[in-house]
Amino acid sequence: MSEMTDVHDAQVDHGLPPWQFFLLCGMLGATAVVIVATGQSIANIIILSLTIVATSFVGLGVYRTFAPLVSQVLGMSARVAGGRTRAALEREKALVLRSIKELEFDFAMGKVSQADFDEMGGRLRRRAMGLIVQLDASTGYREQIEREIAAQVTTPAPATEHAARTGICPGCGTHNDLDARFCKQCGTSLKS
Ligand SMILES: [Zn+2]
Repeated sequence: MSEMTDVHDAQVDHGLPPWQFFLLCGMLGATAVVIVATGQSIANIIILSLTIVATSFVGLGVYRTFAPLVSQVLGMSARVAGGRTRAALEREKALVLRSIKELEFDFAMGKVSQADFDEMGGRLRRRAMGLIVQLDASTGYREQIEREIAAQVTTPAPATEHAARTGICPGCGTHNDLDARFCKQCGTSLKS
C-alpha cells in the first residue's frame, strides 16, 4: 500500500502531464516561427508551423515509447525514497523517545513541575503516536514502538525517593527541610 502511495507521489511531483507539455512546446514553437518568419509568405509560415507541430507529435510518440522505462526507474527511486522516509520516521521516533527520557530525568531532578511534565509528556506521547500511525503500514513496527513507549512513558518511581533524599518537592519544586514529611508549599507527600 505504501509503495503505491510513493509512486503516486512521484508522479504528482512531476507536474504537467506529458501530453500537455508537448502540446505547449508545439504551440510555443509555432508562435516563435510566426515571429521569426514575419515578412515571409503565408504558405511558408504555415508549412513551418506544421513542421513544428509535427515535430512535437513525434516527441510525444518517443515519450510514449520510453515512458514505461522511465516510470520503472521512477518506481525504483520512489521505493528508495520510501526507505528514506522510513529511516527519517525512525530517527524522529528515537528523538521523541529520548526527549521523553530527558523530560522524566528533569522531572526527577525537580527542574520541571508536575504541570509541565504532564503537558510536555502528553505532547511527546501524541507525537510518538502520530509516528506510529505513519509507520503502521508495515510489519510489526506498531507493536514494537508501542512496547518501547509503554516502557518509557511511566511516571518515574525515583521521584519520591529523590524528594526524600533532597527535600525538593516533586510537585512544585519547593525546597523543604530534609526531615519534612510533606511539602510546606503544596502538601505533597515527600516520604514514600
Ligand atoms: Zn510542593
